[in-house]
Amino acid sequence: MLKPLLSLTGGLITTMALGIAQAAPLSQEDVSVAEVLRDRALESSDAYSIVESLTVEVGPRRTGTEGDERAVAWAQDKMKAFGFDRVYTEQIEVPRWIRGHAHAEVISPFPQPLVVSSLGYGAATPEGGLTAEIIEFPDVQALLKAPASQVKGKIAFINKRMERARTGDGYGPAAQGRKLGMRAAAEKGAVAMLLRSVGTDSDRFAHTGMMSVDNVENPVPALALSAPDANLLEAMLQRGKPVQVKLDVETERLSDGPSFNVIGEITGREKPEEVMIIGAHLDSWDEGTGALDDGAGVAIVMETARLIAELPQRPRRTLRVVLFGAEEIGLVGAKQYVEAHVKELDNIIAVSESDFGAGKVWRFDTRLPESKFDIADQMMQLLAPLGIERGNNESYGGPDSSVFVARGVPAFGLYQDGTDYFDYHHTPNDTLDKVDPENLRQNVAAWVVMSFLTTEMEGDLGRVPTASE
Ligand SMILES: [Zn+2]
Repeated sequence: MLKPLLSLTGGLITTMALGIAQAAPLSQEDVSVAEVLRDRALESSDAYSIVESLTVEVGPRRTGTEGDERAVAWAQDKMKAFGFDRVYTEQIEVPRWIRGHAHAEVISPFPQPLVVSSLGYGAATPEGGLTAEIIEFPDVQALLKAPASQVKGKIAFINKRMERARTGDGYGPAAQGRKLGMRAAAEKGAVAMLLRSVGTDSDRFAHTGMMSVDNVENPVPALALSAPDANLLEAMLQRGKPVQVKLDVETERLSDGPSFNVIGEITGREKPEEVMIIGAHLDSWDEGTGALDDGAGVAIVMETARLIAELPQRPRRTLRVVLFGAEEIGLVGAKQYVEAHVKELDNIIAVSESDFGAGKVWRFDTRLPESKFDIADQMMQLLAPLGIERGNNESYGGPDSSVFVARGVPAFGLYQDGTDYFDYHHTPNDTLDKVDPENLRQNVAAWVVMSFLTTEMEGDLGRVPTASE
């Protein structure tokens, strides 16, 4: 008796028998296909081979470098081989920078070397290096409050520890020092900035990363210290004598140059102009092979689209894989993408990005209008057996997705377990051995459910009001 009623009213009817307010928005048929896709992904998806190929055949791919160029070619070749309907690039303009060498050593009172890495787009020391006394701050806020007279001529050392959490919530507060520390140090007349690495490991690797460098009048060298070296410096300072450190850093800023967003599509059979974007970023930092950040994400979204491309028919809407360029230096590829496509934003029905390593997905967050929560509830029925719980509706969909979310585009967030992500993030130790093929299959299983149902469903996800509205 239920079925005919549903078909007469387009599915929106009180089902008296069950006492539920509304019939489910996703059809049983679509849900069944998603379930088959999910189980296929769990059994036989192979995102691991993709990240293996990227890390072995391309390796480091910092934006604007030759490795970046090779990554762009690699991504197009792979997408074509996977049978995507359209594969193309869109050029972006990126600032470029050469990382030369970076050495640091304590000169007195206890001479010994320190393990450091230049922070992104940082300045060089004068040739032959510089030597100065260390002044320590518990965090960047303390440096910002310090009188310039106290900082002038010294090396400002920001010694803030990052807390480990499954959500990665310790990252934001710790990364403040990296973003703002060099600017603050330079403005107060420091000769350089040293930063306890933004990371959760105790390995002797420094974590690089981007700083705010625009319009800093006299930029100074800025280096991340490995956690054990930050401990060492801290212990020397506790002995109460001035600590002199020598830095020798070579870097070079180049003029802006081209990079690319790489895009591959599974074209929709009914509404090709309506698009779901699933993204990851193709660029990486340059010291590791970018297996976790973001090779795993690249592999997860490419494998998701490949599985959907294998279906006997295309989904109703277009599934667009966007591998963003220049994410690491400030979401440059995503910002330029949104600018270039601003007139089509209403046709982007949802966005999501995988950019949090290779851990299992444990939480499903969304950013949907309240009227569409029942769609997420239905997706949850397929995600829960993967060990995924329902999260909140405050997802920004991943770093690059946040640029779309700011314009009201609905977003999904398949939140990965990030407990150990910041042990490796932006270090030489971000390598393939940290990626578990089994975990990637679980990721793809979740992504394929979300991506298929969003591109295939009858209705849409509406728009989400933004802060400015
Ligand atoms: Zn990343």
